[in-house]
Amino acid sequence: MSRVYNFSAGPSMLPTPVLETAAKEMLEFGITGQSVMEMSHRSKEYQAIFDETVANLREVMNIPENYEVLMLQGGASSQFAMVPLNLMNKSHKADFVITGQWANKAYKEAARYGEANIVASSKDKTFTYIPKLNPETFTKDADYFHICMNNTIYGTKWHTLPETGNVPLVADISSCILSEPIDVSKFGILYAGAQKNVAPAGLTIAIVRKDLIGNAMDITPTMFNYKTHADGNSMFNTPPCYPIYIAGLVLKWIKSEFGTLSEIKKFNEEKAGIIYNFLDNSKLFKGTVVKEDRSLMNIPFITGSEELDAKFVKESKEAGFVNLKGHRTVGGMRASVYNAMPLEGAKELVKFMDKFEKENA
Ligand SMILES: *Cc1c(COP(=O)(O)O)cnc(C)c1O
Repeated sequence: MSRVYNFSAGPSMLPTPVLETAAKEMLEFGITGQSVMEMSHRSKEYQAIFDETVANLREVMNIPENYEVLMLQGGASSQFAMVPLNLMNKSHKADFVITGQWANKAYKEAARYGEANIVASSKDKTFTYIPKLNPETFTKDADYFHICMNNTIYGTKWHTLPETGNVPLVADISSCILSEPIDVSKFGILYAGAQKNVAPAGLTIAIVRKDLIGNAMDITPTMFNYKTHADGNSMFNTPPCYPIYIAGLVLKWIKSEFGTLSEIKKFNEEKAGIIYNFLDNSKLFKGTVVKEDRSLMNIPFITGSEELDAKFVKESKEAGFVNLKGHRTVGGMRASVYNAMPLEGAKELVKFMDKFEKENA
C-alpha cells in the first residue's frame, strides 16, 4: 500500500491514526458486537459516542455555555438558507461581504427571504484579497452580518473580524474550523461542513447562540429550524452517525497530538509557511493572494502559463501529489493543507516544485 499526499480542498485527508482506529473498530466497537455504522442512534452506546464528541468539540473550541452545538446534515450549503430562515425575522435585512463563491451563494440564498445588502466585494481582483470595510456602510438594524471566514477556492482568510456591534456576526468556517483558535463569543452563528477539517462528508456543524433560536419564519421547514434540532439534541431525526464518530476520533487526535488550537495553529503556520516561503522566492511559481490575507489552509498558485500549469498538475500527480489542480473556475493550482496534512507533505511538495522549476527554466 502506498498513500499519496492528498492536497484536496474537500473532502480531504484525515489523520492516519484516525483511519487506523476506525479500521480496527470497523467490525466491533468496544464490546458492543457491532460497527458504529450499524448502531441505533437511540442506543446508549451511540449516545455515549455522540456526547463525547460534542463535549470534546466544546472543550477544544472553547464554546461558551450560551451556545448550542448542532450536528446536522445538508452541508454548509443548507446553512445558506437555514441562517436567513431563522434570523431574518426582525428588520428582514442582512449584510454580506462577497469574498468568493461561497460568500456569494450565502448572499444569493438570503436574498430569496429578505433584503440582502452587499457591503463590500473583492470580485474586482478575482477575490485575491479581503476588502477593507467602512462600518458606516453597514445596515444598522440588520438581522445579521455574514462573512465567509476562509475562502477555500481563492485562499484568503479574514484575520481581523468586522466590528458589527449588536448585529450578530455569522461566519462560514467550513475550511478553517479547528485550524486555529476562534473566539466563539464574537459570533451569533458559526457553521461548517465537516469534510474539510473534521470528518468525512455528511456532517454539518452549527454553533448557534441560544437567544437566536426560536424565532424562525413561519415558512421554515421543520428540518431547517434550529429549534427543532436544539430541542431534540440533534436527534430529532437520524443524525449523520458515522461522520460524528469520526469527528470524535479527530478531536481526540487533536487533543493528544496538539493539545490546543493554539498549538495546531503554530503547526499550520509552519506548514503553510514552507510553501509560501518557496512561492515568495520562486522565479516560476507565484502565490495569487495578497500577503496579509493569506489562508493557512488553502494555497493557490500559478506559473503564469496555462500550459505549464497543466504540465505541473500532471507530473505532480504522477509523483504522488494529488488534487493540486485549482478550482475549475479559477485554474492554476491549489494546495489545501488542512490539519491532517503532515509537515513532510509540504516539504516534499516544495522539493518537487523546486525540481520542476529547474527542469522548466
Ligand atoms: C466546501 C465549502 C462549502 C460547501 O460545503 P457543502 O458541505 O458541500 O455544502 C461552503 N463554504 C465553504 C467555505 C466551503 O469551503
